[in-house]
Amino acid sequence: MPDASVPAGPPAKILVADDDQSLVRTLTWILKEHGYTVVAVPGGEGLLTKLEEERPQLLLLDIMMPKVDGLQLLERLKSDERYRDLPVLMVSSMPPEEATVKSLGLGAADFIAKPFRVRELLARVEAHLRVGQALSQAKEEARSRAAMVDILHEVTDSLKPDEIYHILARRVARVLNISKCSMVLAKPGDRAGIVVAAYENPMLRNLEIELARYPEIEAALANGRMVLVRDVTTDPLYEKERVRWDREGIKVPTRSAAALPFNMRDRQVGVFFLRTTGDDPPLTSADAQFAESVIKTAVAAIEKAYDFETAVSDKQRLEKLASTDALTGTMNRRALQEALEQELDRARRYGLALSILLADIDRFKGINDTRGHIAGDSVLRQVGELLRREARSVDIVARYGGEEFVIVMPETALHGAAIFAERLRRRIAARDFADPGEDPLYMTVSIGIASYPDERVASAEGFVALADQALYRAKNEGRNLVRE
Ligand code: GH3
Ligand code: MG
Ligand code: MG
Repeated sequence: MPDASVPAGPPAKILVADDDQSLVRTLTWILKEHGYTVVAVPGGEGLLTKLEEERPQLLLLDIMMPKVDGLQLLERLKSDERYRDLPVLMVSSMPPEEATVKSLGLGAADFIAKPFRVRELLARVEAHLRVGQALSQAKEEARSRAAMVDILHEVTDSLKPDEIYHILARRVARVLNISKCSMVLAKPGDRAGIVVAAYENPMLRNLEIELARYPEIEAALANGRMVLVRDVTTDPLYEKERVRWDREGIKVPTRSAAALPFNMRDRQVGVFFLRTTGDDPPLTSADAQFAESVIKTAVAAIEKAYDFETAVSDKQRLEKLASTDALTGTMNRRALQEALEQELDRARRYGLALSILLADIDRFKGINDTRGHIAGDSVLRQVGELLRREARSVDIVARYGGEEFVIVMPETALHGAAIFAERLRRRIAARDFADPGEDPLYMTVSIGIASYPDERVASAEGFVALADQALYRAKNEGRNLVRE
């Protein structure tokens, strides 16, 4: 933050309104000599227009002018929001007591009696310019900070925590004009913390840091309160670290640092870590306090985002549960119906191939009869697993009936589907489905294939019926076969 005691930017502009021509000339000359820009408004006429045009940083106003009343002008000025912070120095030969009381009561910054001493006038002008500047700067900052908190609200409402961390780090850094600002997740007593976002390194993700090297973070975590180190070269907190720097010949760029702990769901989860280096002005407690207020707002937003994520994932979990067959973990028949409808629609719309397999375990009844129902269930579970493993991630594997499975293969024509079906048939035939310790259990499947485009396919049901006809042929021709 710029130091308010050093006037920055272009020379300050001063407006002088007085009816005494020679006084105006003298004032103008003196002020210009001292580096100010001066605009004269002789007699005070048209002062308000002039103020608007010139936007001066200070006004020297005569109380008694023949055409306008300085005190009235002052009153009007101070009721206008634009000029509320403009320092107005009243200049007059009126008896000091009376004029001072009146003008200060109306919002003047100061009163200067005529005749004045040049040095005194200059000192007062300078002092009021400084105050005015600091005031408008503070207001400007307050405005931009308020705006920032607003933006933060808006942005954080729609983002993931990870993105929010980065935005937060960036915004706090920018508003405080600090080059280094990061978020560290850690609990009190942890040896290591995870840096989840850093303004100085936007690409950074989950960097582990040794907390012993950051005593202010450790302290902030331990007592749950903000810790400010104005100067790492003198602060007692950094005593041990300084010894290490000396020993290891480390040159640390950090000058000041602040660690601000933050809570989530009433649990302390980490700190905001602000640092300044080299020539940056060191952090003040005002900076740290401001950061704290921003962080509070943001953390609330992050919490909301977490809730949102949990809600979404809960919903997804429930939806998945509702569409999954409990025994085999594949999609259930109801969900298959919907998914196949969608895939068929897509294939139709974009002219894509689409194939399905209907696989039925051969003589499954016999397995139940000889090995028991539990062994039969185990076989079904294993077949489901095998099919899911063999299928591509875009394929859909569903349990269609008791021992029947459907595999939907988007963008796959008959030839590719046949190769895949044949591979499945062989894999299953080669596998021992017995549970550990049991006698070997071999079995086979028959597979019917149907492929779109095909004029017989008008719906998902018709599509499966077509595959069922092919399956029927496979069964009829001896089982352990693939037919289309
Ligand atoms: P095919 O070669 O003609 O297909 O003979 P199959 O015995 O497999 O045919 P069928 O359709 O006559 O019998 C299917 C059997 O699958 C009947 C049923 O007991 C069994 N089954 C269906 N669902 C389950 C299940 O969830 N668990 C177990 N263990 N068996 C099931
Ligand atoms: Mg069957
Ligand atoms: Mg069967």
